[in-house]
Amino acid sequence: MTLTLPDGTTVRPGKVLCIGRNYAAHVREMGGSDLPEAPVVFLKPTSALVSSGGAVVIPAMSDNVPHEVEVVVVIGRGGKHIAEADALDYVAAYALGLDMTARDIQATAKAKKAPWSVAKGFDTFAPLGPLTPASAIADPQALDLALSINGEARQAGTTAHMIFSVAQIVAYCSRVFTLEPGDLIYTGTPEGVGQVHPGDMLEATATGLQPLHVAVEAEAV
Ligand code: MG
Repeated sequence: MTLTLPDGTTVRPGKVLCIGRNYAAHVREMGGSDLPEAPVVFLKPTSALVSSGGAVVIPAMSDNVPHEVEVVVVIGRGGKHIAEADALDYVAAYALGLDMTARDIQATAKAKKAPWSVAKGFDTFAPLGPLTPASAIADPQALDLALSINGEARQAGTTAHMIFSVAQIVAYCSRVFTLEPGDLIYTGTPEGVGQVHPGDMLEATATGLQPLHVAVEAEAV
């Protein structure tokens, strides 16, 4: 996938960073009680990206793939050790995204204290909607986001409830990874996650962001 940033440059995302457990109500619905003391970061391969209008493919290896609607940060300016106070200057755009997980594979991995790379990294497990310039978003912590399946509301939340703000996430990630233009950061999901099924149509919406639409298909094997 290539992205056209608001300044007109075309980039191929180099990495897809994701934040887990970033909304307390979602932590609780997953059976957790302890809130993270630092952002929980994992990666997806760029081969997991799929554009709006495409389809999420449920892999033959999994019987349980839930949706997680998330606001995605698109990095426009590279940097390392970015100060939280400056972090939003490095954001070129925002988009809606879905963090898809093979929950059964993830449960096995958690039990074995193994990484989540397989559970989170299948092809099409990172749908990404159209980009909205960051200049059009006055406050990334004041976005209402929602997900519906076949027109039925499933998730509704607000980025005001993030445990770690966009600025804190960008600053934290840049302490670990050199951030580069086109890098993506999925910022976590509010409560209401649930399983998707072949034939479903998913619609993610948020105030000020363009909607994301994806179909759901079973893997042909
Ligand atoms: Mg997530």
